[in-house]
Amino acid sequence: MSLLSSLTQQVIKKNPNEPEFQQAVKEILESLEPVAVAHPEWMEAGIFDRIVEPERQIIFRVSWINDKGVVNVNRGFRVQFNSAIGPYKGGLRLHPSVNLSIIKFLGFEQTFKNSLTGLPIGGAKGGSDFDPKGKSDREIMRFCQSFMTELSKHIGADTDVPAGDIGVGAREIGFMYGQYKRLRNEFTGVLTGKGLSYGGSLARTEATGYGMCYFVEEMLKATNNSFKNKTVVISGSGNVAIYGAEKAIKLGANVVALSDSNGYIYDPTGIKLDTVKKIKEVNRERISEYVKYHPTAEYHEGCSGIWKIKCDIALPCATQNEVNETSAKTLVANGCIAVGEGANMPSTPEAINVFLKSKILFGPAKAVNAGGVATSALEMSQNSIRYSWTFEEVDNKLKAIMSDIYMKTSNAAKEFGFEGNLLAGANIAGFIKVADAMYSEGIAY
Ligand code: NDP
Repeated sequence: MSLLSSLTQQVIKKNPNEPEFQQAVKEILESLEPVAVAHPEWMEAGIFDRIVEPERQIIFRVSWINDKGVVNVNRGFRVQFNSAIGPYKGGLRLHPSVNLSIIKFLGFEQTFKNSLTGLPIGGAKGGSDFDPKGKSDREIMRFCQSFMTELSKHIGADTDVPAGDIGVGAREIGFMYGQYKRLRNEFTGVLTGKGLSYGGSLARTEATGYGMCYFVEEMLKATNNSFKNKTVVISGSGNVAIYGAEKAIKLGANVVALSDSNGYIYDPTGIKLDTVKKIKEVNRERISEYVKYHPTAEYHEGCSGIWKIKCDIALPCATQNEVNETSAKTLVANGCIAVGEGANMPSTPEAINVFLKSKILFGPAKAVNAGGVATSALEMSQNSIRYSWTFEEVDNKLKAIMSDIYMKTSNAAKEFGFEGNLLAGANIAGFIKVADAMYSEGIAY
């Protein structure tokens, strides 16, 4: 009987309608087993029992009025998961699928990811089931203001610093920041991902995608390989996917596919990113528009078909559980040598097993996409010292952080008997710092 399996069962029983949260806890506790054996004092102090329970969960009503004058009601969430090593930090997601289970899984994962960055930030996540698609700028503004009216009571530059995630980019952060400032009469770094004119950091927009490629390049380097001349498939066409594609291309790869929640485009001559940026960032249109500009490219309805495209490197950058066992087997059978998770938990547990068994390189989300939050923490530092670093300064720090995360992850895997398994390594390395801080800070009773 393992030390932590009964805790997994307790979490499942206590959170019965939360499959994503259960999935995340199960995955992490499985790899922490040797840590529990090595640290009986952490078992005795209830560190494992405490780490799976959020410190605070806030659920609130967000009412707003649409352009026709009709009242709409959405549900807002902020789950402040763990503040052992720093103020809560984690993004806000606006998507109709958002519910407590998804926000809890993201907040839980964020705790370990933030720890891996080596920076002093705790874990949190938030958002709403509001669907930004098809809304006017005014509607987005009214929603963001209403959302922030409640959220502002629970956050602060030294308490909790939210950022963007799916459906929350520079436009939404701007509206939320403006409302926070109006309500609190404070100009502080309470949100990250801000525009450059009011405290944002250079390279934050690019950070998650660039960081993903820096991490994957480290994995490849360890096997004397690189992005050069590789065929790359990337899912999604949002912030992470676009800037991941940009860096992969700069590193010499040929990116041949991107997607959104309706379908995917395949351009064997290489995706033209200027077109994608125009479609997604300027016009806010669907990715299917791409073939109007480049008629030799193909558009296919449905998301999972993208993984049937033969590639050397696969970078899932859309959403959770987008790569299932069948897709994983197809990728491996087609000769894929590396998978880097740009999105949070994009691979199902069955898909992860396929990758680990086949011994291809597998970079887990909490390590691979940590560059976004790391650069957010660099934005907080710049806000605190009221100074801005150049793009190159931030990018160099990001590169060093991603290389350090790779080292920590692969060393922890080796030390605890999981050599080559970066998923276990990331879970362990992320956990150890948080556990040590929780142990030092004692138990409030
Ligand atoms: P964006 O909103 O910019 O883009 C999300 C992309 O994924 C869009 O192309 C979207 O398509 C697609 N997508 C969203 N939901 C689904 C779905 N249910 N099925 C299929 N496709 C979907 O988000 P980001 O790029 O910021 O985030 C992508 C992933 O990366 C998320 O998992 C996020 O948590 C993670 N992440 C993001 C960070 C960041 O800094 N932005 C940092 C760390 C992780 P459509 O437009 O059709 O919805």
